Amino acid sequence: MDTISAPRREIPIVAGADVCVIGGGPGGLPAAIAAARQGARTLLVEMQGFLGGMATAGLIGPILGHKASRGGEAVIGGIPKEICVRMADLGEAVPWEKAMEDWGIAFNPEGMKIVADRMVTEAEIRTLYHAFLSGVITDDNGITHAIVETKSGPLAIEADVFVDGTGDGDLGFHAGAEFTKGRPADGKPMAMGSIFHVGGVDTLTDDARKAAVERMRELQSQGANLYGVGLGNHGSTIREGFLSLNATRLAGDASDVYDLTEGEFQTRDLAWKALEAWRSAPGAEGLYLAATPAHVGTRESRQLVGQYVMTGEDITTGRRFDDGVARASYWIDIHCPRGFTEGGQVHLCTKGCKKRDCYMITEYSDQLPDPDRLYPPEGSWCDVPLRSLIPQSLGGLIVSGRCISADYQAMSATRVMATCMAIGEAAGTAAGMAAVGGVEPRDLDAADVRAALTKAGALI
Ligand SMILES: Cc1cc2nc3c(=O)[nH]c(=O)nc-3n(C[C@H](O)[C@H](O)[C@H](O)COP(=O)(O)OP(=O)(O)OC[C@H]3O[C@@H](n4cnc5c(N)ncnc54)[C@H](O)[C@@H]3O)c2cc1C
Repeated sequence: MDTISAPRREIPIVAGADVCVIGGGPGGLPAAIAAARQGARTLLVEMQGFLGGMATAGLIGPILGHKASRGGEAVIGGIPKEICVRMADLGEAVPWEKAMEDWGIAFNPEGMKIVADRMVTEAEIRTLYHAFLSGVITDDNGITHAIVETKSGPLAIEADVFVDGTGDGDLGFHAGAEFTKGRPADGKPMAMGSIFHVGGVDTLTDDARKAAVERMRELQSQGANLYGVGLGNHGSTIREGFLSLNATRLAGDASDVYDLTEGEFQTRDLAWKALEAWRSAPGAEGLYLAATPAHVGTRESRQLVGQYVMTGEDITTGRRFDDGVARASYWIDIHCPRGFTEGGQVHLCTKGCKKRDCYMITEYSDQLPDPDRLYPPEGSWCDVPLRSLIPQSLGGLIVSGRCISADYQAMSATRVMATCMAIGEAAGTAAGMAAVGGVEPRDLDAADVRAALTKAGALI
């Protein structure tokens, strides 16, 4: 690609922060709150005009990974539980006790936005909305400033410790940190997809519902890349008469602006086609598209390589670490990187891929996880070690959420939102302690971080 030199810019410095968190999703939001509660002056940067990341901008739900593998006790406490309980108190999520009986914590994204606004305000976090991280300044010790683009022009945020809560590892990427992406065979990340909301569901009779599902099957048999036909609620709305549907997907790399753009076009188009199919059934005319996400859903992009790279084996053996700071209880859930659906079913690399022409099956089968060993041991979990949050060599940075140091199998388990929130509390606690104590994140004593997390009610 041809390039051009941009004029040198004098950028105003935003000073006064000990910790700067970039990205306010499930990984970044708890991180900012935890850092502030450690006494660090905290600044949170978010490109949207609200917090919650995929939980709000992506309409993704329910919050998965909240209890031990295949049922059992809660594996999250602390700030993640606080966020869920506060949503439930507003009538915007299922009550905690009920959620413990369910496969996930169903909630309304609008409720998450309100709770997040309140919690960052109470923690006296300085928040910058509509601010997009576009670069960093580093010195020999690591990151010194984050450059963000805003309506007011660029700003250079100065802080002692930065937390990468972008999901895509943008901070580390701009700082030149080592990262991996997708499956080893070809670097393809899992398919993008979206959840959308359909209203008017309360107008459906049983017969109309059955007919609508049949119409969807017809659409799929004609080749539409849609899955899930049952008009079942996926869990990002608990409103009467509404469903959240996880039905669209496409291959692509969410850290590539062209793929992201294509993702927005295709997933909205698929959502509309699905709606048209359903409501062409007799009695289903009252269905309507209530909401599409502000951001196409990203399952996987960059993983910043840290002091320890989590593996699929760690997940399936329920490995424990001396520096464990969060619990990952979800299973190895790899959605087809080629974006396939099959017969209206979710197409997974893990649960018996049927696409016999897929080169992952024919040439790289040794890179596929064993379909009989995908879950952590029943009633258990795998620890997320603090070392997977600390980059190998880059100073001044702690990583949170989806983009922590994990191979493609392990990340497919740690990426769910309850786990990202627990990782977030750990990342923010560590960042706060490093900034207030004047030490590099890599020099923190994991025992001190674990003690602080336990004191705060986190389950580790
Ligand atoms: C289709 C689909 C279905 C899913 N289903 C479920 C499910 O049912 N349950 C579940 O628990 N998980 C599910 N997931 C996974 C889950 O949503 C994500 O893995 C999780 O949200 C990751 O959290 P995060 O905070 O790391 O990243 P994100 O949620 O992506 O948050 C990142 C935040 O950083 C901001 N940001 C990014 N880049 C910048 C930048 N350069 N400058 C400023 N801000 C920036 C974003 O706006 C966002 O707020 C699903 C994902 C997809 C795509």
